[in-house]
Amino acid sequence: MEYRFLGRSGLRVSALSFGSWVTFGDQMDVDEALACMTAAWDAGVNFFDNAEVYAAGQSEIIMGQALKKAGWRREDLVVSTKIFWGGRPNPDGDGYLYGVNDKGLSRKHIVEGTDAALKRLQLDYVDLIFCHRPDVDTPIEETVWAMNHILQQGKALYWGTSEWSAAQIRRAYDFARREHLIPPTMEQPQYNMLHRDRVELEYAPLYDEIGLGTTIWSPLASGILTGKYNDGIPEGSRLTLPNYQWLRPLVEGDEGRAKLEKVRRLQPVADELGCTMAQLAIAWCLVNEDVSTVILGASRVQQVHENIAALEVVPKLTMDVLERIEEILDNRPQPEKNWRD
Ligand code: NDP
Repeated sequence: MEYRFLGRSGLRVSALSFGSWVTFGDQMDVDEALACMTAAWDAGVNFFDNAEVYAAGQSEIIMGQALKKAGWRREDLVVSTKIFWGGRPNPDGDGYLYGVNDKGLSRKHIVEGTDAALKRLQLDYVDLIFCHRPDVDTPIEETVWAMNHILQQGKALYWGTSEWSAAQIRRAYDFARREHLIPPTMEQPQYNMLHRDRVELEYAPLYDEIGLGTTIWSPLASGILTGKYNDGIPEGSRLTLPNYQWLRPLVEGDEGRAKLEKVRRLQPVADELGCTMAQLAIAWCLVNEDVSTVILGASRVQQVHENIAALEVVPKLTMDVLERIEEILDNRPQPEKNWRD
């Protein structure tokens, strides 16, 4: 395993990490989750990602129980959660129930949401805590103060954002610096072959200027980049799950079909390199040095093994190969875009 610094912090995270969205609670029980986490751990993964909203808290409960069963040393682990949507399951039907203060980045929800997450995870602290989305109704100053409070209490060690604009991250950072508070260390953005602009362009100034680290999500675009959707939606795959039908545009409509066509054209490149399409897509993310860690998702152990072997593909991605991939993707970020929040 390779370990990378999380931005300019002193924390080292495994270049490949493991997350629980969709899977823990909806597709996996504790033993299945532990089997996947163990496969990752045995390969050197030290970072496990979670969020209060995943399976309405069930994902944190499962990860907490799995960590207890595994008995790994706390010092060797980097565990995260993300705060924003703090709802609870609706006992009378589908979806979540939210009290008026259960959502967002108010000081109240950050404090209460963090305490509840720690209880579910059975941990005294998380290493990383993220503001899961920007909250336009709460002043950024309130959120920065609240995150500073959580860190000062030792309930989390580093804080960051997820899917914030560069301008919002910058505002939070500048305010924290001015007030001598702890600034954000990392951002959790989507990044994969089909979704690049934010990480490669919008955030570009932040890597040097504020030392931003990135823990990137959906490296396989929910599985599209494995090639498994090239000939239709396979039974049992993520896109067949009742609660995730909103992901279908990834493979449907003109845009979806264009994406699938790119994946089909990338397959021969993977074949030539002697790897799977999933490994090629993950290795491509690892080539980007501004990526601190690639958070893998997997619904079974075999996928964990396959995806972690992407580390061996990275040295095969020469400039020539990367240029061929670039031609097929045809989506190199264009600098003339004007980034606003
Ligand atoms: P991916 O894009 O890698 O998708 C993972 C899914 O693809 C798996 O659950 C599985 O689904 C399928 N898959 C993975 N590997 C293979 C393989 N080798 N062959 C075939 N199918 C495969 O990642 P995720 O979207 O799961 O995101 C990873 C993590 O990032 C999450 O767990 C979470 O921690 C984080 N995240 C953060 C977000 C944020 O807003 N901050 C948003 C989303 C994710 P299946 O087998 O069911 O088809």
